[in-house]
Amino acid sequence: MSEFSFVSIKDYQTALLNNQTTCVAVVEYYLSRIEANKHLNAFLEVYSEEALERAKQLDEERLAGKSLGKLHGVVVGLKDVISYKNHKLSAASKILENYTAVYNATAVEKLLADGAIIIGRQNCDEFAMGSSNENSAFGKVLNAADNSRVPGGSSGGSAVAVQAGLCMISLGSDTGGSVRQPADFCGVIGLKPSYGRISRYGLIAYASSFDQIGIFSKTVEDAALVLEVIAGTDGYDSTVSESPVENYLASLTDDKKYKIAYIKQTLEHPSLNEEIKNAIFQFIEQLKSAGHSVEAIDFEYLDYIVPTYYVLTTAEASTNLSRYDGVRFGYQSKSPENDLTEFYKNNRSEAFGKEVKRRIMLGTFVLSALYYDSYFTKAQQVRRIVSDRANEIFAEYDALISPNSPIPAFKVGEKSNDATEMYLADIYTVFANLAGIPGISLPLFDSAFGIPFGIQIMTDKMKESQLLNLSKQMVQIAGKNF
Ligand code: GLN
Repeated sequence: MSEFSFVSIKDYQTALLNNQTTCVAVVEYYLSRIEANKHLNAFLEVYSEEALERAKQLDEERLAGKSLGKLHGVVVGLKDVISYKNHKLSAASKILENYTAVYNATAVEKLLADGAIIIGRQNCDEFAMGSSNENSAFGKVLNAADNSRVPGGSSGGSAVAVQAGLCMISLGSDTGGSVRQPADFCGVIGLKPSYGRISRYGLIAYASSFDQIGIFSKTVEDAALVLEVIAGTDGYDSTVSESPVENYLASLTDDKKYKIAYIKQTLEHPSLNEEIKNAIFQFIEQLKSAGHSVEAIDFEYLDYIVPTYYVLTTAEASTNLSRYDGVRFGYQSKSPENDLTEFYKNNRSEAFGKEVKRRIMLGTFVLSALYYDSYFTKAQQVRRIVSDRANEIFAEYDALISPNSPIPAFKVGEKSNDATEMYLADIYTVFANLAGIPGISLPLFDSAFGIPFGIQIMTDKMKESQLLNLSKQMVQIAGKNF
C-alpha cells in the first residue's frame, strides 16, 4: 500500500467495514513509513512481526462478524515509559537498557482489550526529564517538519510518530508539559487529562503527584475516543478518580458558548515570542466573534510556578529513582567495588545521564533536613496557592487559554547547555500539572518559518468533555480541517 489517508479513526474503521482496506495493509503501510523515516529516531523498537500478526487476527475476527472494539485496528505507539508485558521498557535510559516489562500498564491492557495494535516503543527524554528529547540515552529525535529543530520533549518520539504518520495514535506522559509541548512543536494534538483520569499503573514514575498518561492524535475525535477507552478506575492505582468516564466523543457535537479566561501575565510575559503572542490575541478576537466570551484575569505568581514545579518534581524523582540500584534489575557496573555503597554508586553513576543525575541531586538537596522547609515546604505552599487560584478561576470561567510554550520548536543544540533556560520554557504547561487540571495543545497556527505552533486550553478537573468540546469548536473557528 503506497498511499493511505484517513481523517480519523472512525473513517478508517468505516473503510475497514466496507472492505476498502485491512488492518494488515495499514500496519504494512506504517511499517514502511517507519522504515523510510528512521533518521527521525522516533522509535526505539518496532514490533513488526507481532503487529502484523495481530492485524491478521483482527482482520479475521472482523470478517467473521465478531463484535469489534472501539479501537479496532488502531495502530498505536507507546512512549518508552509505559509498560508492555514481555517487551523492553527502558525510559530511554542506560540503567534499564536490558529491562523487560513483566506486566501491562492498565492503559495498555485497555488498548488491547479494545482492539488496538501496538506497533512499537518510542524514544523520549531519559525518565521523561526534558523539553527537547536531547536527553535520551539512545540519541535525539528530530522534528519531522524541520530536521534541524527539536521535536520538544519529553515525549518527542511519540509526537513525531504522529506528526510524520508513523502510527495513528501515541501514548506519552505529561508531568510538566511533556505531551502538550512536543505536540505544540510538531503540529499535532496533545491531550493531558486531569490528574487521576487515567491509571498510572505501569507508567514509570518520575514525579508521582504530577504524572499523567497523555494522548497524541491528529484529530480531537481521536483523542476523545482513545480517552474514553483508557480512562477510569483501576484497582491497581488508588489515585484514579471515581468520577465516571463520559462519552467524550459524543460530547463534541454540542455548540455551547463558553466563558473563557486568559491570564494577563501569560500573554504579557517577556519570554513570549511575538508571533505566538499576536496569533493568540488575533484568535481571541475570532473566539469572541464566534460568540464566546474571553476575559483577561490576573495571576500574580506566574514567575514562581516553574521553580515550584522543579523543587517538587525533583524531590519526588529523587525518591522514585532510588529503586534503580542495580541489585534486582537494571544496569550492573563491571567496575570493581569494595562494598555495597560502592556497588550502588558505580551502577548509578555509570548508567544515569547528566540531566537525571542533576535532578536526583537537586531533589535530594531540597529534601535534606537543613533545606526542607525553605524549599520543599515552601514549594508545597505555592502549589496550594496555584490550586486555590485554579478553583477560583473555574468557579467563574469554563476554560483558560494560554500558549503551550513561549517559543516554537528551537534548533537542536540551541538550549542543551543551559538547563535553566530550558526549565523556564515550561512556564505555560506546569500550571495544569500543579493544579491537577486537564490541558490540551491544539495545532492551530503556522509560524512564518514553517514550523507549527498551537494554543493550550485548560478546564476544571474532570471536565474533559468540556475541554474536548471547546477544542473541537476552536478547530472549526480557526478554519482547520482536522
Ligand atoms: N519539561 C518538563 C521537565 O523537564 C516536563 C517533563 C514531563 O512532563 N515529563 O520536567
